[in-house]
Parts: sequence; structure tokens; C-alpha cells
Amino acid sequence: MTAYSGPVFDMAVKQFEVIADHLSIPEDARARLLMPKRAVTVSCPIHRDDGTTAVFEGYRVQHHLTLGPTKGGTRFAASVDLGEVAALAIWMSWKCALVGLPYGGAKGGISVEPSSLSRRELEALSRRYMQEMIPFVGPHTDVMAPDMGTNEQIMAWFMDTYSMYQGQTVAEIVTGKPVSAGGTLGRREATGRGVAHLVRRAADELQIHLSHATAVVQGFGNVGSITALELHNSGVKVIAVSDHTGALYRPAGLNIPNLVEHAASKGSLEGYSTELGFDPAEILSLPCDILVPAAVERVIDARVAAHLRCRILAEGANGPTTPEADQILGKRRKEIFLVPDILCNSGGVVVSYFEWVQDLQRLFWEEDEVMRREYQVLDRAFHEVSARSKREGVFNRTAAMAIGVERVRGAKDTRGLFP
Ligand code: GLU
Repeated sequence: MTAYSGPVFDMAVKQFEVIADHLSIPEDARARLLMPKRAVTVSCPIHRDDGTTAVFEGYRVQHHLTLGPTKGGTRFAASVDLGEVAALAIWMSWKCALVGLPYGGAKGGISVEPSSLSRRELEALSRRYMQEMIPFVGPHTDVMAPDMGTNEQIMAWFMDTYSMYQGQTVAEIVTGKPVSAGGTLGRREATGRGVAHLVRRAADELQIHLSHATAVVQGFGNVGSITALELHNSGVKVIAVSDHTGALYRPAGLNIPNLVEHAASKGSLEGYSTELGFDPAEILSLPCDILVPAAVERVIDARVAAHLRCRILAEGANGPTTPEADQILGKRRKEIFLVPDILCNSGGVVVSYFEWVQDLQRLFWEEDEVMRREYQVLDRAFHEVSARSKREGVFNRTAAMAIGVERVRGAKDTRGLFP
């Protein structure tokens, strides 16, 4: 038992144990690599619109500080707890190391359903959370970003709150800001563009022609919607999408640009069509070429894994697949090509890194420069993962995590143990 124990943290531990065994990491070296360096829980009180006071619990976990500042998103969701945030921080570490960023992993969150707050309450809570975090974060300590339930506006409030306390603008304290407040071009689209780019690479390996391919996307937030749009623009027929309000299925292909417009104006897929309605519980087992889980953790368990009927599984979400499901997918690896989460959704943090660098230098890039460099980083990581998986005869997740864990371990060993 640790302070983090819970289903999501346990999953991060099990995944790590598989890799630690694969890399023959001695037992006594494991906790130093796995356990988070710092965790903080804060109470965030706000005035509700009705004059009452409400208190929300907030968290931030910094996994390791060996390679530079920690980096990771902030999640606003009713289900958020310390263990989930810790697991997500650990995954950020393997992800940043895999794509070669000078960061450790972090994650934060508030246990709140953001749609239950008015805009004024959301601003008050966002600002109070950042204010409570001031002693623990900084542009060279820990840099926040968006995640589920947060967006560019919330990042702007975080940046403004931190800056007001410093007496000067510190744009580099968070990434994923609006371009008008020191954000970079291409950050909002970066994760979805990255997912679609890696799907194209996987399709090349399998010699799948995208103009003949079908896709199913679970989750229609920033990641799912942009991925669906990018795939659609690459000629893929996106046959089903879903979000927390329901699913839509059209074997002849959905009108993705219309759906993206609908979701942007209404906030979800709800109300788009009753005719196309489909059972969201069935979406992952639809036959398709490309399956993109881009919603929450642990949606692919052993039962679902046995019933997947896709050729490419591109994990847009963090932690969508349980370790039990991995055992099945490992056996099905000739049938299903996995683009594991820490690679698949890493375009977001890669472009966050570019935003941080631009803010530090006060020198901003054109969008095509951002995209070119993003794809260059993703191509290199994709190549390293696929080469290692072929060389060692392992599943892509094992290869990707092995690279990430090995790099963190190497940096820790080189720096040595203080004091
Ligand atoms: N929340 C995103 C992730 O899970 C982005 C993190 C970042 O940009 O720092 O990768």
C-alpha cells in the first residue's frame, strides 16, 4: 500500500514491473525509478454563484526531476484522485524520455465536474488551484499544460495568476496557452495531428492504403476530434465516433467536418443525429482498420482485447489498455499493430516543449515549422520503437516503455545518488 494505491496506479506499477523484468532491473533499483518524487494535495475554496463556499480537492504529482523540470497536464474531472494523477505523471516520464524531451513527468488535477461550474466559478477555481500550487511549480521546476476537462482559456488563467504573483509575465509557466497569450501555433492540434501522423506510419508498415481504410474513434474532445478530422483529410472513412453523451455509427462514413463543427458549438456530440445513434459500449469491437481510443483509461480490458477487430490500435488516450489486455494484445501482435499511448499521443507534449522553448527565447515559429519539427520527433521515436520491437521480438508497448525507462534509469545512474 502507498498513498497512491488504486486501480490506475496499480496499472502503472504492473506495466513498470513487466518492463523492469524485461530490462532485468534489480529489485532494489526499481522503487527509485517508479515512485513519484513529490506529491501535493491542496484544498481549493471558491465562492459559488449562490453565495455559498465550496472546497475542491486538487493534486499535483512530480514523478522525477532528473532530466529537467517536470511536465504534464492538469485534469478537471469528477473521477480524479491522487493515485490516478500519480499514474499519469509516471506515464508522462516514460513518454518524455521516449521522445527525447528534457523533462520528467508530472500531472495534476482537481476532482470536479467542470460542466457543473459557471464560467466565473471555473475561473475562480482555476486561479485558486494555480495560486495554491505556486510554492511547488515554476518554469524550471514544473510546467503545466491542458489535459481532460481543461483548455487554452484555463491555461491563460493559470499563467495570469502565476504572473500576477511574480509581478511580471511568465508565459513559460504553462503550455497549451492561447496564441494571444504566449502560446504556440499548432499546440491545440498537436496531439491529434501526431496520432494521425503515426497512424500513417503504421499504415505504411502494414501496407494499408488510407483511401481504402476505415477508422473508429472513441472520445471526441481535443484529441479525438482532431484525430478524426486529420484521418478524414487523409482519405480514411471514419465510420464511428463517440463521447460521454453517446456514439454515432455510419458504415458509409460520417461527415467529420460537420461533426467537429457541431461538437465545437454544442460542447459534445449530443443532438447531432438520432438515426446514427449506436451503443457506445460496442464501439471498440466494431470491425475497422484503425481504432483510436481517445477518451479515458482502462477501456480495453482482457475481454475487449480478445474482441478487437482492428489492424492498427492507436492509443490517443493515456492508459486505455490494462496490463491483462496487454497480455492478449501481445499474443495478437501479428494481427494488431499497436501504437502505444506514450508514443501515440506524445505530439502534445512535444509541441508543449516547443512552446516552452519559444516562450523562454521570446522567439516564435511559424506553424509549418512547428509541424515539421513535431513530425520529425515522432518519426524518430516511431522508428526506434519499431526497430526495437523487431530486434527483441517484443510487443510495441514493451519496446516503447523499455526505451523510456532505460533513458530515465541511465540519467539517474550517471548523475548518481545524492548525497
Ligand atoms: N496532457 C497531455 C499529455 O497527457 C499534454 C501534456 C503536456 O503538454 O505537457 O500528454
